[in-house]
Amino acid sequence: MTFRDHLQDAALDNLAQEQRVADGLTTDVLGSMAQQIAALRQEVARQNAALSTLTQLLMEKGVVNSAELKSRFDQAMASAQAQANVTACTRCRKQVDKRQTQITSSGAMCVACYQAMQADDE
Ligand SMILES: [Zn+2]
Repeated sequence: MTFRDHLQDAALDNLAQEQRVADGLTTDVLGSMAQQIAALRQEVARQNAALSTLTQLLMEKGVVNSAELKSRFDQAMASAQAQANVTACTRCRKQVDKRQTQITSSGAMCVACYQAMQADDE
């Protein structure tokens, strides 16, 4: 085996070792994510049980009826959805619709700030 072959073998060994380390990290990250998902599923199930129990109790006691409950729930969901579609511009901090932002290296930016930043760059 020539010296050059030794060098190539060593380089291949190093690459193989780096790949094993990367595979190990990927496995660790995936394992951690799977644990987090399992914990979130458990939390959703717990909250669902609590909400169902509370809803059932309120209806049994005649505190609310199902139409009233549905109406309130729909309002709350619409409000939550509207809130989820809004973000703060990283430059001017104004609350803007997420669909009308540009993603930059510093985060979501409103159109006015994005255009101003591009004009500054020129
Ligand atoms: Zn802005």
